[in-house]
Amino acid sequence: MNSEIKITDPELKEMFEHALYFHGHLCPAMPIGLRAGNLARKKLGVARSQDKELMLLSETSSGHAMACFLDGVMVATGCTYGKGNCKKLNYGKLAFTLIDKINNKQVRVSVKADFIINALQNSPFIAERKKGTPPQEVDRELAVAAVNKVLSIPDEDLFIISDVTECQLKKVSGTFEAHLCKGCGEAVYAKWLRIKNGELYCITCSGYDD
Ligand SMILES: [Zn+2]
Ligand SMILES: [Zn+2]
Repeated sequence: MNSEIKITDPELKEMFEHALYFHGHLCPAMPIGLRAGNLARKKLGVARSQDKELMLLSETSSGHAMACFLDGVMVATGCTYGKGNCKKLNYGKLAFTLIDKINNKQVRVSVKADFIINALQNSPFIAERKKGTPPQEVDRELAVAAVNKVLSIPDEDLFIISDVTECQLKKVSGTFEAHLCKGCGEAVYAKWLRIKNGELYCITCSGYDD
């Protein structure tokens, strides 16, 4: 199975098989998440979370590449929705912070903007997805090629990884800034406004998921 997927590291190979089963289809974003999760874990010097030793704050939203990426990160870190140590922040980014709760340390990993904008967005796999083909129906050879490509890129070309820092609990910030939605005319607080064609909209009128 998956003999065409080129993974030499036995640990990553086994992890990939589990992740593929869990995720449900072959795509390039899940293995990027898998690699990113492993990178963060190794930088912190920790094993996968068996219970709640680690906490994952994912900056992803519900869009497809982001959703796939998070499944990979969850498998690599052992931080899962079910265990309650994975929180989705919905920032619309391929990025996350992994927290070692035992030692109160954290590290942030993000996928390089250049890779997302130029390589991922223009890949033949994504071109198929933009045409509306569900990921599981994309030609298998295209999907395998996309996966092998992302697996072959060196870490330094794919990711930005922060230094390990003390874990800082995020302050809850309030806002009094509100603007009118171009669609419905209702007032919306700044944090929940969305930009579409250069205009401000509420989430409902924007047509975005969140
Ligand atoms: Zn996927
Ligand atoms: Zn509106």
